Amino acid sequence: MELEKTYHKYDVIIVGAGLAGERAALAAASSNLKTAVITKVYPTRSHSGGAQGGISAAIGNVDPEDSLEAHMWDTVKGSDFLGDQDAIELFVEEAIKTIYEYEHMGVPFSRLPNGKIAQRPFGGHTYRRACYSADKTGHVLLHTLYEQCVKHQVSFYNEFLVLSLMLTDGQASGIVAWDLRNGGLHIFRTKAVLFATGGYGRAYKITSNALSNTGDGLATVLEAGLPVEDLEFVQFHPTGYYRQGILVTEGARGEGGHLLNGEGDRFMKKYAPERMELGPRDLVARSIWTEILEGRGIDGKDYVYLDLTHLGAEKIMERLPQIRDLAISFVGVDPIKDPIPIQPTAHYSMGGIPTNKRGEVIKDAQNTVVPGFYAAGEAACVSIHGANRLGTNSLQEASTFGRIAGNNMTEYARKADFLPVDEKAIKRAEDKVRRLLENDGKTHHYDYKKELQQTMYDKVWIFRNEKDLKEAASIVKGLEEDFMKNVKIDDKGMLFNLDLQEALEVHNLLTFSQIIIAGAINRKESRGAHYRTDYPKRDDKNWTKHTLAWRAEDGSIKFDYKPVVITKYQPTERKY
Ligand SMILES: Cc1cc2nc3c(=O)[nH]c(=O)nc-3n(C[C@H](O)[C@H](O)[C@H](O)COP(=O)(O)OP(=O)(O)OC[C@H]3O[C@@H](n4cnc5c(N)ncnc54)[C@H](O)[C@@H]3O)c2cc1C
Repeated sequence: MELEKTYHKYDVIIVGAGLAGERAALAAASSNLKTAVITKVYPTRSHSGGAQGGISAAIGNVDPEDSLEAHMWDTVKGSDFLGDQDAIELFVEEAIKTIYEYEHMGVPFSRLPNGKIAQRPFGGHTYRRACYSADKTGHVLLHTLYEQCVKHQVSFYNEFLVLSLMLTDGQASGIVAWDLRNGGLHIFRTKAVLFATGGYGRAYKITSNALSNTGDGLATVLEAGLPVEDLEFVQFHPTGYYRQGILVTEGARGEGGHLLNGEGDRFMKKYAPERMELGPRDLVARSIWTEILEGRGIDGKDYVYLDLTHLGAEKIMERLPQIRDLAISFVGVDPIKDPIPIQPTAHYSMGGIPTNKRGEVIKDAQNTVVPGFYAAGEAACVSIHGANRLGTNSLQEASTFGRIAGNNMTEYARKADFLPVDEKAIKRAEDKVRRLLENDGKTHHYDYKKELQQTMYDKVWIFRNEKDLKEAASIVKGLEEDFMKNVKIDDKGMLFNLDLQEALEVHNLLTFSQIIIAGAINRKESRGAHYRTDYPKRDDKNWTKHTLAWRAEDGSIKFDYKPVVITKYQPTERKY
C-alpha cells in the first residue's frame, strides 16, 4: 500500500497546543519566525483547558509575607528533594512574570475587592499562592493564549497525529505526522522542534486525564533512541469522582472542603495534623487509600467523601460552579446538599523528556544536549516537580518553561539551517500506519488498552511492591508482543480513521508503561508519589538521583542515573 506524502518547511515546529506548546509558539511567532503547531486535537481542546484550580506565583496579593524563597522551599519539599533546585529557583522567579504577562494579555482572573488578582490556598503551599479564575483557570488561560497565537499568525495543523521525530546526524530536523482528516503522511522539515505533548493518565483505568493524554511524545522520543526521565513518578490526585476519575479540583479543599471516611471522621488529622486536607497530594492520596484498604471507605467500599455542604450555596456557586455541575452530571450528587463520593485518580506525570533549564532536550547523564530539540510542559522533565508535584505548579511550569524553551528555540533557529530529512523516521511512521491498515489480526486494540489500564490500576498504583510490579512488567510486555502480531482495526479507510488513531495511541501506552514499571521495580525506596510497601523509607544515600531510561528496538530497557541538582536545601525529613 502506497501512502501519500506531503512536505512542509517551517523555521520551528511545535508539537502540542496546550499551554506549553502555545506559549512556545507565541515566542517564536512574535519574533517573526515561520512557526507551525501540530496538534492531534483542536487547540482549545488540549488538556490544559481542563485545569480547574489555579496557577501558582508568589505575588503575595493575599498573603504579603509570601516570597520567592517560600515558593522555592515548598516546591523542593513537595518534590521530596528530587526536584532540581537550580530549575526550581528559576521557575519561581519567572512565575511572577508569567502571571503579569497573562494579566496583560487579558486573562479574566478572579479578583479581590481591591481589584488585584485573587489567590487561594493549595496543597503543600505555605501561603495563598494560587491565582485562579473560578474553577476554570486552564480554560481561560488556554483560550487567551490561543487568541495571541492566531494574532501572531502561527500556522495550526489541527487533527494531525505526530508519529515520529526526525533526527539527522543527531540533530532535530523535523517530524512526521498523519493527517487524521484526509489520511496521508506529512513530513515537516524544520530547524528546531519542540515537544509539548502533555501527560499520559490514560495508561490507567481511573484517571482525570482527557482521552488524548496517551503519552505519544514519550513513545516517539524512545523510538528515536532518546531517553525519558523519572517515569516511575506518577501523581495520583486525591479527589476524582468515584468510578469516573474525573477531577474535583484541590481548590475544593482550598475553599474549605473536608474529607470524611465511612465513620464520618475527618481522617486527615491522623496523617497531616497541621495541613489536614491541604497536605501534599502524595500524602493525601495515600491517606485516602489507607482508609479504604483498612475498611473505612464509605459502606466499606473503595471511596470516601469530600464534603462541601458547610461552605454554603453561595460560595459553591461562585467559586466551584463547574465542580457542582460535574458532580450532578457524573455522580448524581449536588454538593450543596450532599457530600461527593471520591477516590484517588491517576493525574499527572512528574517524569518525561529530560531537559535542562533552557528547555533543551538532553540525551545522557552528562546532560549532553540534542541540538535543535526542545521540550516543555507535562511531557518534559526539567525537573521542578521531582517525586511529587504541588497543585498549581503545572500550569505555571507549562507557561513559564513554554516561554523559556520557546525563546531559546527561537534564538537557535535564527542561526540554524534546514537539514536533510531522516529517511528512517519517515519509514518508521509509514510502517506503523501500514502495519495496522494491512494487518488482519484477531484482537481489537481496545482489549489491549483495557488490560493495560486494569493492570496499571491493580499493580502499579498508589502502593507498590516488587511482586506486583514484576507481574505487571510481564503482563504488559506480553501485551505489547501480542499487539505487534495480532492487533486488529475494523476501519481500513483514510478519512477520520479514529480506529487507526486509537490503535497507534494504545501502542504508545504499552511502550512507555513498561518503563514506568521497570523504573518502579528498580527504585527500591519510597519517595513522593512512588511508594514501595517493601521499601517504605526514603533512601537518600542511594536514591537521590534521577532515572534515565532508553528502549532498544527489541524492547529491552536500559537505565542510567543522574544526580539531583541541590543548591540551597539539603534533604531533610518531610513532615506536614
Ligand atoms: C483535570 C485536570 C485539572 C488540572 N488542574 C490543574 C490546575 O488547576 N493547576 C495546575 O497547575 N495544573 C493542573 N493540571 C495539570 C495541567 O493542566 C497540565 O499538566 C498542563 O496543562 C499540561 O499542559 P501541556 O501544554 O504540557 O499539555 P496539554 O495541555 O495536555 O497539551 C498536549 C498537547 O499535545 C498534543 N499532542 C499530544 N500527542 C500528540 C501527537 N501524537 N500528535 C500531535 N499532537 C499531540 C495534544 O493535541 C495537545 O494539544 C490539571 C490536569 C488535569 C487533567
